[in-house]
Amino acid sequence: MVRVIQTLLTWYQDYHRKMPWRETNDPYKIWISEIILQQTRVQQGLPYYLRFIDKYNTVSDLALAEESEVLKLWQGLGYYSRARNLHKGAKIIHETYHGQFPEDFDKIIELPGVGDYTASAISAFAFNKRVVAVDGNVKRFAARWLGIGISVDKPAFLKETKMGLLELLGDHASPNLFNQAIIELGATVCTPVNPRCEDCPLQDSCIAFRKNQQLELPITPQKNKPVSIKLVFFAVKQNNGWALIQRDESSVWANLYEFPNGEVEDLDQEPMGLFESFVEKHPQEIKIIGYKDFKHLLSHRSIKARCWLVEASETFEMPAKWVMKNAASMGEVPVHRLMEKMMEFAGVWK
Ligand code: SF4
Repeated sequence: MVRVIQTLLTWYQDYHRKMPWRETNDPYKIWISEIILQQTRVQQGLPYYLRFIDKYNTVSDLALAEESEVLKLWQGLGYYSRARNLHKGAKIIHETYHGQFPEDFDKIIELPGVGDYTASAISAFAFNKRVVAVDGNVKRFAARWLGIGISVDKPAFLKETKMGLLELLGDHASPNLFNQAIIELGATVCTPVNPRCEDCPLQDSCIAFRKNQQLELPITPQKNKPVSIKLVFFAVKQNNGWALIQRDESSVWANLYEFPNGEVEDLDQEPMGLFESFVEKHPQEIKIIGYKDFKHLLSHRSIKARCWLVEASETFEMPAKWVMKNAASMGEVPVHRLMEKMMEFAGVWK
């Protein structure tokens, strides 16, 4: 095992990709990077990480920011609960731990949005704790290298993975580098479709390679198909202002702004009647201009949306829940990607 880990770490020193969060042991910065990378590829996440760290250099800077400001900085990354959890977590660290990031694994894992992988990654990268951080890349590598024939979603898989990798780590002085190395190996060599076994430093000791099972492992569970929903939006313009609603805390896209909308059975419904049902009154003072259809895919939902462009006269009274924003301030409110596309269609900034 000592020889295997040495080979792995030498490979890592020679071939790893340089990333700013690998150059620091500041737990706050590592936490930010790990949350960004939870559902985002490195290339897309990097500029967000740099902007985040630039604007909120310490955990207390983030704790004291407005949530809408944090969501705005996150705009375009999706999975907005990550940004809200970072903000909540920063407040906890600022208030409960006086701005000092906790070192104890049990306290780290209690932070909102932090699971076993993220708590382990922070413990290893920032505090050099003897833990194994098991993300998707490590699961794939471990299933093959250790030859684990259990579905990756089963607790027994995680248990075997951790046991096998902790045994490999042994009492090596650098759990930090070890964890970086197995994540990097999974991401760049032991890849999902065509693992590059010919370039792998651990080929000699890999069970899947010996048994020619690289493409059979890991065993993954069947994915549920995303649920289809149809949404109709109304981009309502009055003078130089646009009508928006803010989504509630418990919904997908929580707290983000969007054009007033509702779920429908059939997108081809006549728009005036639909608009009437939205505003619960007879809207004589509006003019329907046209529409555009959009498709948008979330992890559990496949959305078909139709956005109607509407001009409202000065006398049209907006429902109480709608807020008016002028074109200049539309750029400051946090919105999701589908809304960005609809704002482009509506010509918000023209
Ligand atoms: Fe993955 Fe191939 Fe290396 Fe085994 S030999 S760990 S399957 S890349």
